[in-house]
Amino acid sequence: MSESLLQLEQLTVGYDGMPLLKPINLSVSAGRVVALIGPSGSGKSTLLRTVAGLIDPVAGRVRLQGWEPAAHGWPRFRRKVVHVTQQPAMLDDTVEANLRRPFEYRSAEGMDLDRAMAEYALQSVGLEAGHMDELARQLSVGQQQRVALVRAMLLDPHVLLLDEPTSPLDDASAALVEDAIRARADRHAAAVLIATHRVERVDRFCDEQVQLETVVQTT
Ligand code: ADP
Repeated sequence: MSESLLQLEQLTVGYDGMPLLKPINLSVSAGRVVALIGPSGSGKSTLLRTVAGLIDPVAGRVRLQGWEPAAHGWPRFRRKVVHVTQQPAMLDDTVEANLRRPFEYRSAEGMDLDRAMAEYALQSVGLEAGHMDELARQLSVGQQQRVALVRAMLLDPHVLLLDEPTSPLDDASAALVEDAIRARADRHAAAVLIATHRVERVDRFCDEQVQLETVVQTT
């Protein structure tokens, strides 16, 4: 049995104290890819943002290797648990500068961007190495999302939180991204939580599906 990296304990997510989803109990081990399934608007992004520590839980807790985020220290937690949003923020600079930026944070002290590795990672998700010198914001949304995924992977996180990483992509590009996610889990022992509505594709690269249950509002 491999080590549990991420634990969600009775985690209840929502806004202004109002839960969106029923409490979630989940333990994700190193090397596992878990799909969060639910219709649009059900709370998948909210759940990922809560796990990333961007929104406080309504109730329950998130633990990384048994410890709550504050016990790790937030900078350390954020280095280990990396969140890729559906519409990632890109600096108004080249792709290379975007990939390099997280290495300039104090939490990444001692690490540096390896350009050859970055080019290889871009190619693994279907982007040409030549994009490195292009302006990130001039790429399509689907390309920017893949740059953001590469940016996250290069940090070698323990946990990757991916919000609809293939939604703007055609099936061939989606398959490349899914294979890269699978390889990240297998070769680097990352735990991956992935919000997706593409249920039909989940079996090809995920180990487990979690069907999110919404709370029925009675107002
Ligand atoms: P999904 O990712 O499954 O499409 P979301 O987590 O984006 O769902 O949204 C779930 C619900 O939370 C939606 O009804 C949405 O309108 C609402 N919501 C999203 N962001 C906020 C916010 N900042 N404040 C209040 N409600 C929000």
